[in-house]
Amino acid sequence: MLGLMQDWPLLCHRVIDHAAIQHGRREIVSRSVEGPLHRTTYAEARQRALKVAQRLEREGIRLGDRVATLAWNTWRHFETWYGITGLGAVYHTVNPRLFPEQIAYIINHAEDRLLFLDLTFIPLMEKLQPQLPTIRRYVVLTDAAHMPETSLRNAVPYEDWISEVDGDFRWVPLDENAAAGMCYTSGTTGNPKGVVYSHRSNVLHSMMAVAPDAFDLSVRDTIMPVVPFFHANGWSIVFSAPMAGARLVLPGPKLDGVSVYELLEGERVTMTAGVPTVWLTLLSHMEANGLKLSTLRRVLIGGSACPRAMIEKFEEQYGVQVAHAWGMTEMNPIGSICAVKPDYAAADRETLFDVKAKQGSAPFTVEMKIVDDDGKELPWDGKTFGRLMVRGACVARAYFKGEGGDILDKDGFFDTGDVATIDPYGAMQITDRSKDVIKSGGEWISSIDLENLAVGHPKVAEAAVIGVKHPKWGERPLLVVVLKKDQSATKDEILGFMQGKIAKWWVPDDVVFVDEIPHTATGKIQKTTLREQFKNYTFPSVAAAG
Ligand code: ADP
Repeated sequence: MLGLMQDWPLLCHRVIDHAAIQHGRREIVSRSVEGPLHRTTYAEARQRALKVAQRLEREGIRLGDRVATLAWNTWRHFETWYGITGLGAVYHTVNPRLFPEQIAYIINHAEDRLLFLDLTFIPLMEKLQPQLPTIRRYVVLTDAAHMPETSLRNAVPYEDWISEVDGDFRWVPLDENAAAGMCYTSGTTGNPKGVVYSHRSNVLHSMMAVAPDAFDLSVRDTIMPVVPFFHANGWSIVFSAPMAGARLVLPGPKLDGVSVYELLEGERVTMTAGVPTVWLTLLSHMEANGLKLSTLRRVLIGGSACPRAMIEKFEEQYGVQVAHAWGMTEMNPIGSICAVKPDYAAADRETLFDVKAKQGSAPFTVEMKIVDDDGKELPWDGKTFGRLMVRGACVARAYFKGEGGDILDKDGFFDTGDVATIDPYGAMQITDRSKDVIKSGGEWISSIDLENLAVGHPKVAEAAVIGVKHPKWGERPLLVVVLKKDQSATKDEILGFMQGKIAKWWVPDDVVFVDEIPHTATGKIQKTTLREQFKNYTFPSVAAAG
């Protein structure tokens, strides 16, 4: 027997329709690429998204066609997502921080038909365009007054391009399982692989994300996604903010501490989201200038492990609650968020911060398990580590064009490539990426734990730990440290700080001070480059033993 409720497919355009009707006057404030702040509303954004859809249709874009965006977070980029999905086409966010050859690879692999790009990326695309036969038109996200001379094929300024239509358009009716968006994983190994989000997964994920133990987003909030839309589906904020009716502040191209702080305060932001490196720059700017945060109440931190010291600082010095989240491109992208459950009601400060430093539990729509190398399930005791596997309504079941083959186990779980523990209350903690874990004498050492501990040292700005070959133990940890500006420290000072806080055999065998640690296109520490950099390194104790 079937239920007798209406069939109302979960489609992305329903989100902007809802926002325009219920929260039509709520603002979208953007730092434009041209410079000044720009203000619009959800009602106006919907109207312009209808024009985008209508104009794309006139351009010959059809159901399922891929349309790329290479852009910062601004109102124009926001509108393009709704225009593209409302026509039944598929937005493909291109990460400008990828190597040019990777950008060409993913655009060709996705067979993008049109590219929306910011002024910033014109020189890059002029160089790449001979390698990109599928792109028929480049639409520059600006107006005629700011449009430069360019050799890009059929280039037009966005404002002129959408003004050729009147917006009298009806969103195309679609199956909720139709493709809505695409994002390629950075592909630390092999070629990048395309993840294809559906309308349904975007909508379900956003409903999950606005909930109190996740983003905790309401109509009373102003949210600023510092995380770029091109990083892992923009953490779904393009959909979750209008769904909640929250006011949206978009930082455009300026993600430095000064600019981020200016918007947080100037636009009275209550909730923000980004990777730890962004918050490192913000915190050091605030510390150096004795600044405070007057409206911000919550910051969502993910993409790489948020050091416990950062959580303490936000909470105790700035009165801002940290929601530590874990996710990945293959998951729409949130996989877990740390909310302190009532089970910890009696916990002391130390235990509470230990809990908050975990990546947290799976929200509804996500199922999790940890398994050993034979696929056997491991206990949730908070100590045993295993491969983290996930299944759910917003988890990829395959990559675009079948790259990588069958990616699920026999029960439909996807291997995240992460190693984690799960405690009896369901809180998951990432111990490492499976390829970064340090294997010492047959036991595993978590590079993330060591990094988090090292950055707790007051003189340390950033730390990375890699495994280096060792004749007796197979591998031992090497700690690579960037000191804070104008600080000096000795190896013994750093190691002394770590001793007693971790098992003795986890203490790194050596410390190397560097000026900079390499990062990936999504702001993570680039372990492959570091390992390459230290491939001829020998521990002093090993060298001494001859
Ligand atoms: P990339 O394209 O850089 O792989 P993703 O965002 O898909 O981008 O990366 C997902 C990976 O990032 C996860 O598998 C995990 O290793 C890491 N990650 C994300 N969030 C966290 C977190 N809070 N703590 C530790 N690692 C994280």
